[in-house]
Amino acid sequence: MKVLVTGGSRGIGESVVRRLSAAGHDVSFTYLKSEDRAESVAKDTNSRCYKCDITSESDIKKLKTLVKDVDALVLNAGISSFDQVQDVTSEKWRLVLDTNLTGAFLTVREFVSGMISSKRGKIVALSSMWARHGSSCESHYSASKGGLEAFVKSLAKELGPSGINVNAVAPGFIGTDMNASLSEEAVAEIVSETPLQRAGTPGDVAAAVEFLLSDDASFITGAVLPVDGGYAL
Ligand code: NDP
Repeated sequence: MKVLVTGGSRGIGESVVRRLSAAGHDVSFTYLKSEDRAESVAKDTNSRCYKCDITSESDIKKLKTLVKDVDALVLNAGISSFDQVQDVTSEKWRLVLDTNLTGAFLTVREFVSGMISSKRGKIVALSSMWARHGSSCESHYSASKGGLEAFVKSLAKELGPSGINVNAVAPGFIGTDMNASLSEEAVAEIVSETPLQRAGTPGDVAAAVEFLLSDDASFITGAVLPVDGGYAL
């Protein structure tokens, strides 16, 4: 399967690239700033990396000319931010929404026509447990992921008749750069509130993404699969 992963240079996206490549898929992925890291992942996995800001329509259009049609999209690139709502500048709000929600839309809009023509395709988006439950001081992030889940469900209905499955995974706390600024105490508190009593790994999420891309998930669409150790129960 030919797969495009957005944000494959680090964290969950990197793990998805490594897992899908190891399973024999033909993987392309994007990055924004981590060029050396992206090139090293691409070399290790025999995949291809492309610098592409997913908030930029022109970057995504250029990406399409390079990657061409794909069978599957993993909408992973995202950013988080921790601010009380009164301190969220309009620029910050837009950057979080543009990256986590509009970036997914722009990627789907550019790549979906090939899937519709071939009457098959898979789309998996990286949401978050905060989409459904809300997170204090992450109103912009939670709103972006809530919008992403609504986008996923709408696409599942719209694209199902074209043979395209559209799903999301909703990770809990995963040990990546995104959470690097959290104190040891904050991490310990999250772990203690997680029924499975550990932080998640990028590999835990990549396994769920691989499942949703597989034929084993062929009758699943519009689903949001939690990968959170039970935290959000
Ligand atoms: P990381 O911060 O580790 O990696 C983010 C990735 O997104 C990087 O590859 C980065 O590229 C890329 N990226 C960021 N902005 C852009 C942009 N404008 N254009 C293109 N690429 C961009 O994040 P995680 O791996 O932790 O998170 C991956 C996804 O999972 C995100 O959508 C996140 O919201 C979601 N998630 C993560 C959780 C966690 O606990 N970690 C929990 C729930 C959801 P570069 O390296 O070049 O900067």
